[in-house]
Amino acid sequence: MLSKRNQGIHKLQKIEPDLLCPNCEAPLIWKDNQISCANQHTFDVAKQGYLNLAPQHHEIHYTKELFQARQTIMGDLRLYEGLYSVLLNLITPEVADMDNVRVLDLGCGEGSHLQLLHEHWTKRYLKRNLEFIGLDLAKDGITTAAKYYQSPLWLVADLSHIPFSDNSMDGVLSILSPSNYKEIKRVLKKETGWFIKVIPGTDYLKELRERVLPESQIGHDPTSSLTRFHDNFCCSYKQETLYQRLPIEQDDLQLLINMTPLMWHVDEETITQILNEINQITIDLIVLFAMNKN
Ligand SMILES: [Zn+2]
Repeated sequence: MLSKRNQGIHKLQKIEPDLLCPNCEAPLIWKDNQISCANQHTFDVAKQGYLNLAPQHHEIHYTKELFQARQTIMGDLRLYEGLYSVLLNLITPEVADMDNVRVLDLGCGEGSHLQLLHEHWTKRYLKRNLEFIGLDLAKDGITTAAKYYQSPLWLVADLSHIPFSDNSMDGVLSILSPSNYKEIKRVLKKETGWFIKVIPGTDYLKELRERVLPESQIGHDPTSSLTRFHDNFCCSYKQETLYQRLPIEQDDLQLLINMTPLMWHVDEETITQILNEINQITIDLIVLFAMNKN
């Protein structure tokens, strides 16, 4: 069996013609066991099989523990399980006749959403040749992704300077993550390329929010995210929602608290109270879908 590094190299070689140097935007070429551009910028494939295109970046907020918590909540506990069929139903009309599909997840963190979408996708469309690529600037996220999930290619890179050439992606995902619309529209294929953005709905994690926020801030206000999406993709724009209230055990609730930035500065007494009193959690998401037509 191929080592994880060799598996990563194999996936990398498929996308190499569209990969750009993050420093100078020249094409990156695989040669002599590393990838480099004509201007001698060189990047390594780690032994875990991911490519690091931002080796100087040091992440301080998003730690290994946080990504491990996310992996348990999303990958094992499947708290967002309902999301993937909503995504697939939106994508299906666009990919029904395609044998090769390349999808980029921007801000993938520890990769659980992309992996689970991949699993649902291969169950629905067995024969497709899928190139799934997960990108995040947090190296600990990508390291965790590469540890648990082998199907996608994982990249440490900046989503505000996407290291891919113009018109190189069939689909782009942005799940509860910031979006640089100019870059997304640049890398998407014109006309046939599609973009999915998932944002919190009004009641997202409301059981936690109502314990720690003033009343006026408990409900998420999606207006500014919706406006930005509409400003950039005004044509052929669809909107779905996922609303589910799920039971949650105390240990898992602790992990959810650990991975939720809103909770990072809450005092211990409040956390203990929340752990003792909350036994269900609301996942309320808005899913926006558009083609890259304008
Ligand atoms: Zn370069």
